[in-house]
Amino acid sequence: MLTSLIILAGGSSIRLVNSSKIPKQYITIGSNNIIEYFLENLDKKIFDIIVIVCNPKMKKKYLVNLKRKFFWLNIHFTNSGNNRQESSKKGVLFLKKFKPKIVLIHDAARPQVKNELIRKLIKKLDINQVCAPYIQQNDYVKYKKNNNLIKNNLLMFIQTPQAFFYKDILDAHNKIRNFNAKDDTALTEILGIKTKLIKGDKTNIKITLKEDLDIFNLFKRKINKNGIGYDIHKIDFYSKKKLILCGVKINHASLIGHSDADVGYHSICDSILGSLSLRDIGYYFKNNDKRWKNVNSNIFLKFAKKKLEENNYRIINLDINFICETPKIAKYVKKMKSNISNILNISKNIISIKATTNEKIGLIGKGEGIAAESIVSIENV
Ligand code: ZN
Repeated sequence: MLTSLIILAGGSSIRLVNSSKIPKQYITIGSNNIIEYFLENLDKKIFDIIVIVCNPKMKKKYLVNLKRKFFWLNIHFTNSGNNRQESSKKGVLFLKKFKPKIVLIHDAARPQVKNELIRKLIKKLDINQVCAPYIQQNDYVKYKKNNNLIKNNLLMFIQTPQAFFYKDILDAHNKIRNFNAKDDTALTEILGIKTKLIKGDKTNIKITLKEDLDIFNLFKRKINKNGIGYDIHKIDFYSKKKLILCGVKINHASLIGHSDADVGYHSICDSILGSLSLRDIGYYFKNNDKRWKNVNSNIFLKFAKKKLEENNYRIINLDINFICETPKIAKYVKKMKSNISNILNISKNIISIKATTNEKIGLIGKGEGIAAESIVSIENV
């Protein structure tokens, strides 16, 4: 039994006022546009085939990497029509060759729909022919003309996705033409098929106006990621240079390294790059490149910050641990936190710096090197 999904993304969203003049379904929030946000949160086991109905120019501009980005989904594209009904029909006709049993039709402008609701709609087709979600409003509703109140429970606000047996919706689209239905259940209802309405979800908002986008931003799902970094350098007992840890100059034998050998900054960088799945510091700054000889490691940290910004993430916690016999780190923690806070532009309250000795065991225990490890937590903005 093949289950399919049609995503209607053909709209030009003339009602949404956004300065960028991008149709709403392609507006980027965090690292995803609205369609990508929906696909990222979609349970990959529900649909065998997904077809996105959109304008080919928009596809080229905004969805060119979509199939690769969501390689675990079986995504296809077809061109949109002149109105919603035409676009919906094009999606339905495109699916014909796959012979799906069930099809859900969904507006791209509702990125918040939960998998739970999708599964419920499909399940309801066990004993119904068509199923759609609805919500009711708690606000008072009045007629514009005579100010008379309308009872809330008399009104139903219909949402998408809407679930059909493929043969029924195909039949409806073939028989009913030039009707410009704003909703697919309206078509099957003309054929006399009753719609089973189930309780939808208020968070499944349709992004139509600028303020809808603000609401969506308020409760969009947060994506949290973590990254780990570790670094160790040997101590140079003969050097006249001073030790540098997290940007603080310390009266202690320095470390050997191509740059200033700041293990603290290096481990933080690697944890940030790791949290973004962007390899490690050595990939971007080769340790045989003259440009990085003796440089201040704050340039690596600034680079990691730039990567965070480019990917629309921010740090929510940073925990650094030094492993060394000497020096005693505690008295430098305040200054270290202040340096990190300034470079990464984060609050000192979310930075933790601590240290441990290696109990005189091994290279670090003998005082021949200093190591640092860092764990960072980030979330999408
Ligand atoms: Zn290093």
